[in-house]
This record gives sequence, C-alpha cells and structure tokens, in this order.
Amino acid sequence: MSDTLALVAGELATSGALWRDFMDICSLGGRFAGTESEARAREFLAARLTEETGLAVTRHAVPYDGWRRGPCTLERLSPTSIEIPAHSLVRSVPTPRGGIEAEVLDLGRGTPEDFRLSADLIPGRIVLVRHEYMIASGTIHRRRKYNLARQMGAKAFLVGCHVPGGLLVTGSSGFLDADDIPAAGISYEGAGALFARPEGFPRVRLEIAAERVPATTFNLFCDIPGRTDESVFLTAHIDGHDLALSAIDNASGLAIVLAVVRALAPHVAKCRRGLRIGFFTVEEWALTGSRVWADALSEAECDRIALNVNLDSLAGHPKLTALTSGFGELDAFVRQAAGRVGERIGTHRPILSNSDHFNFLRRGIPALRLCCGMDAPESNMKYLLTPGDTPDKVAPAELKNAAQVTAAIVWAALNHDGPIARRRTPAEVQAMIGG
Ligand SMILES: [Zn+2]
Repeated sequence: MSDTLALVAGELATSGALWRDFMDICSLGGRFAGTESEARAREFLAARLTEETGLAVTRHAVPYDGWRRGPCTLERLSPTSIEIPAHSLVRSVPTPRGGIEAEVLDLGRGTPEDFRLSADLIPGRIVLVRHEYMIASGTIHRRRKYNLARQMGAKAFLVGCHVPGGLLVTGSSGFLDADDIPAAGISYEGAGALFARPEGFPRVRLEIAAERVPATTFNLFCDIPGRTDESVFLTAHIDGHDLALSAIDNASGLAIVLAVVRALAPHVAKCRRGLRIGFFTVEEWALTGSRVWADALSEAECDRIALNVNLDSLAGHPKLTALTSGFGELDAFVRQAAGRVGERIGTHRPILSNSDHFNFLRRGIPALRLCCGMDAPESNMKYLLTPGDTPDKVAPAELKNAAQVTAAIVWAALNHDGPIARRRTPAEVQAMIGG
C-alpha cells in the first residue's frame, strides 16, 4: 500500500466524521426532488465541502418536469370493502376526481411471459405486479412492467412490495406521455388482498391526486486539480424518496463522497489526474440530473474524464460489487485497487442502467457503480424504495469499509499510468446499450 493510501485509509477508519455526516444527511429527510428536504441536503453538502476542504462549489441548473404528490387512496369494493394503503408512484398521472373503478388482474411477478399469457385479460383492468430486489442479475425493473401494462391496455398499474411487514413501495413510473396510466405502490399484504376468487376479480376504486409543475434544481460540482487536465469523477446522487430517509439509497454514498474527498484532498495536487466531485440530483426520476449534464459535455470534455466512480447504496450488506458496465478492463483494476486496503470486492460486467454512471457510459466514458448487496436478496438492500430505508439498516463498519474501498479505487485511478479503460465510440456505445 502506498504511504498516502495507508494514511487515508487510517483516517477513514478512525474519524467519526463519516458517521456524523451520514446521520446529518438522514436528519434532513428523504430528499424527494422538488422538496425543501432535497434543497436542504444540497446546501448541506455544499457547505460541508467548502467549510472542510476550502473547495469552491459550483451549481449546475437542471430544469425538469416537476411533479407534486397529492393524496392517493385505494379501496377494494368487492368482494368486501376494505381500504388498502397506497402511495402514488413518482410522476403518476392523476385519476379523475372521485377515482377510477376497475377490476384488478394480479400478474404475480409480472414477467413479460406473465403479461403475454394474460394479454386478453389486461385491457380495461388494473394490473398488479410485484416489486423485485433490484441489485440482482435477473431483476425486471418496475418501469418495464409499467410499460407493458400501459402498452397492453391496462387502466392503471399497481406494484406490491416484495417484503412483508406493511411496507409500501415507491419508484418512478410514467414518462409524462399522453398514454401514461395512473400508478401506485402498495404493501405485500395489500397485494395479498387483491387475488381473484372463483366468483371473479376483485373490484377497486383508485384515486390519485398529483400536479405537474415546471421545476429547476441543481447538481453540485467541485474540482481538485492534479498534474494533468485529466480527471477522475467521483459522484453520488442527492435525491431520494419521501417514504423514509433514503439512508442506504443514497445518504450512504453522499457521506462517503464527503469523507473520501476530505481525506484525499490534501494529496491530489501531486497525482497524475485531478479529482472532480459531482452530486447529481433527480436521479430517482430516470437519471435526469446526470443526463442533462452529460448530454451537454463536449467531446473534448468527455476525453478528459478518465473514469467515473459512482457511489449508490453502499451499506446494508458487507459485500461490495463494482458494476463495471461493459468496461471489462475495469474488473481487474478495481479488484486490485480494493486489495490494497485488504478488501475483496465483486465485479459485475453486464450493463445495469440503475444509477448515474449510466449517463457517463452513454457518452462512452469508462464508468462504474459501486454498490453492495449484489444478488443478496435478504440483505438490508431489500428496503430500498420502502419506508424501511432508515439509518438503523446501516452498520457503521460497512460504511467505513466502503469508504476505504472507494478511496483505494479513486487513489489508484488518480495515479494510474496510461488509460484506465478506453473511451468507447458512439457505435460501440450503441452496441453496448442497444437501440
Ligand atoms: Zn440510488
């Protein structure tokens, strides 16, 4: 281990600032985009960067289609009347006042095959599917199921939580298109109350109030120059959801960025590459903040980014995985880097478009997401997007460990001779992500 990395790792292991920042961020609420909580978190991050490292922070404006959540109610009308707690999915269209009434068709997990086999039953009904553990090889994203429901003529879309315990589930749904359908998350038990009986499908009334409002928010950036004009981009997303405190997703990533920057900042000037920090927002809304920013980069700017290390959900399970997103060269690089602080991490090469690293990849820039809980569906990562995403699911040791691994990967990237991975051409990117 280099002397500097040993120093940095030691500081991360002993300092209480990482845990303090993590709890401070959680205390500001779930950081749902467009709320006071999101704005307070942004200003907290900017202030802490400036106060503790003396870095100048710039704000990058992100105009986006804002959306405000109003009340959401779901009532089973037959076979007997019961209220089922429900939470509208992000960007759901509202229902007419008084709600819509329809039968519910439970498609279970909601695989494309499930949809195909019930194609004739879908039109005019409300389709119910289940949420899935998201950090897994074969996971089917909610938006894919939503799209199938919408395209196949469903009247509305319900997603049931996969974890028992009365937990609602959230996430984004529509695309602000004319044919969007109302969408809401319900609990495992709520979904269990909507099975078809021999006498027929259950009938429900769903009412969703929501408002679209043009909005502007801000990504935050700061730079610590190295010896050349190349840089390593360390990123994490600010925003979260309003069901809980978004502690794992992504107060963990935000606090680790602060800790790693604090520890590395005094040493970057002597490194080959500079360190850039990016706090993106509206990530939970189809990666909007990083997309707007990445789309505006010039080719020359893209060429100067040697690597994006994106931190999203790094506590809740002790084992870390680098999602190396088709950049095969990164597998050995990150494993070796983690080894320098005595850690073994997993690598997963298939592309998962589940966080901001995807928008770097879209520009051909080598990018990885560091996360935990890959293929560990019983880990605390199962609480993502539910009211269970609270600080008690995070072990201080996991957070420290993830910070040390992050520092080791960033340090290796700052100092590595020659390219870390090759920037991909637009044609190669197309082949990687399809369409
Ligand atoms: Zn996230």
